Amino acid sequence: MDASANDNMVAPEDACPLCGERDADRLVWQDDQRVECQMCGTVYEPGRRDHERRE
Ligand SMILES: [Zn+2]
Repeated sequence: MDASANDNMVAPEDACPLCGERDADRLVWQDDQRVECQMCGTVYEPGRRDHERRE
């Protein structure tokens, strides 16, 4: 309903795997490959990027 609320939402693939947080204000990109969720403290790799280089 409120379109502006979606502006800070990251892609579903980038959402926190633990708590599902998608608010960009609460997801901190550590570098290009890792994201820290400020809500639960989880550091994860967002799934949005290419899956080619998995190692
Ligand atoms: Zn989280």
